[in-house]
Amino acid sequence: MAVNVVESKEWYLAGYAAEGVPTTDHLTLRSVPLSLSLDSIPDAHVAVQLLFISVDPYLRTRMSGQEDGLYFPQFSLNQVITAFGVGRVMRSKDEKYSEGDIVLNAFFPVAEYCVVPSSVLIRKIDPEAGIPLPEYLSCLGVPGFAAWVGIEVLGEAKPGSNAFISAAAGGVGMVAGQLAKLKGCRVIGSTGSDAKVRLIKEEFGYDDAFNYNKEVDFDATLSKMMCRYFPNGIDIYLENVGSKMLEAVLNHVNPHARIPVCGMISQYNQIWTEREGVRNLLNIVGKEVRMEGFLVGSYLDRFADFTVEMEGYLKQGKISSKIKIYEGIQSFAESLGSLFSSSNFGKVVIEVNKPR
Ligand code: NAP
Repeated sequence: MAVNVVESKEWYLAGYAAEGVPTTDHLTLRSVPLSLSLDSIPDAHVAVQLLFISVDPYLRTRMSGQEDGLYFPQFSLNQVITAFGVGRVMRSKDEKYSEGDIVLNAFFPVAEYCVVPSSVLIRKIDPEAGIPLPEYLSCLGVPGFAAWVGIEVLGEAKPGSNAFISAAAGGVGMVAGQLAKLKGCRVIGSTGSDAKVRLIKEEFGYDDAFNYNKEVDFDATLSKMMCRYFPNGIDIYLENVGSKMLEAVLNHVNPHARIPVCGMISQYNQIWTEREGVRNLLNIVGKEVRMEGFLVGSYLDRFADFTVEMEGYLKQGKISSKIKIYEGIQSFAESLGSLFSSSNFGKVVIEVNKPR
C-alpha cells in the first residue's frame, strides 16, 4: 500500500556562524511529518525522495549572517538549507513528471523528502544514459560547469598554454585540470596533501603539483620551482582559494594572462575585515592581466553546450572524477565542515536514500 505520510529529517539554520566552520551549534537536524497523499500536494508540484545532495563551499557563505557580496543571499534563521540535488519523483501533480522520474534541482531542501513546485526542476535524468547519479552533481553539476566556464570560456585554454589550478583535487579542480589537458595545456596544481598530489597526477593527468600545506612562502615556492613548474610563466590561473596563493601567482603570470576567479575558499570562514589582502594587484596593470569573477548561474545559456561536451567526455572515458560519498542526511554538518580541511578527495556528496 502506498505510504501517505513520512517522517522526513531536514537540516535548518539555527544560528549564524560569522566566523569559523559552521557546526551543529549553527545547523540543526529535525524530523517533520510530510504528507505525500495526492490530495495534499498542490497542483504543479511533485513529491520527491532525495537521493543525492551536493555539498558545496558556497553553502557556508550563506550561513554567516552578513551579506558580503558572494553568491546567494543569506539563509534565514529556521530556514531549511537548500542545495543542488538529485531525487526520485514519488507523486506528481504535473503531467510532465511521473512517479519514478529522476530529477535535478539546484535548490532542493537538505532533507529526506520534500514537496516542491515542478517549475524548479532543472531536468529529468535518463537512467539508461549509463552515467552514475552522483556524477550529475560532480562533472555534470555545478563544479564541472564552473571548471568548464573557467577553463574554456574565460581562461581561453589553447594548446601550449600554461595553466595553474588551486584546490586542484576538489570538485572544480579535478575537472578543470582534465579539461585544460584536453585543450593541450601544460597543467600544474596545488592541493593540501601528498596523497592528493599523487592523485591529481596519476588519475587526472596533471603534469605536476605541489602540497601547499608543506610550503610557508608561496611566492618563494613558485620562484624556487619556476624551472620545474612554470618555465614560461602562467597563462591561466583558475583561482579557487584566494589570498596568499593569488598574491604568489600574480608575481609569476605572463602578459595578458587570464585569471578566472571561481572562488576564494581560504577566506570563507573569516569576516571580510579579517580576510587577507593581496598586496601586488598592481601586477594586473603591468602585465595587462584579465582577472574576472564569475558565477555559473550567469552562464546558464551555455549549460546545454557544456552538458553535451561533458557527457561525451565521460562516455569516452576522457574525463573521470572522484566522489567522496557521505551516507545519510545526518552527515550534512560533518560533510560541510570537511570542505575546509584537506581530508577529502574530489567532490563531496551525500547519499540521502539509496537509489533502487
Ligand atoms: P570542494 O570540492 O569542496 O573542495 C574544496 C577544497 O578546497 C578542499 O577539499 C580543500 O582541498 C580546499 N581548501 C579548503 N580550505 C582551504 C584553504 N584554507 N586553503 C586552500 N585550499 C583550501 O570545492 P569546489 O566545489 O571544488 O570549489 C572550489 C572553489 O570554487 C571554491 O572557492 C568554491 O566556492 C568555488 N566555486 C565557484 C563556483 C562559481 O560559480 N563561481 C561554482 C562552484 C564552486 P585541499 O586543501 O586539499 O587542496
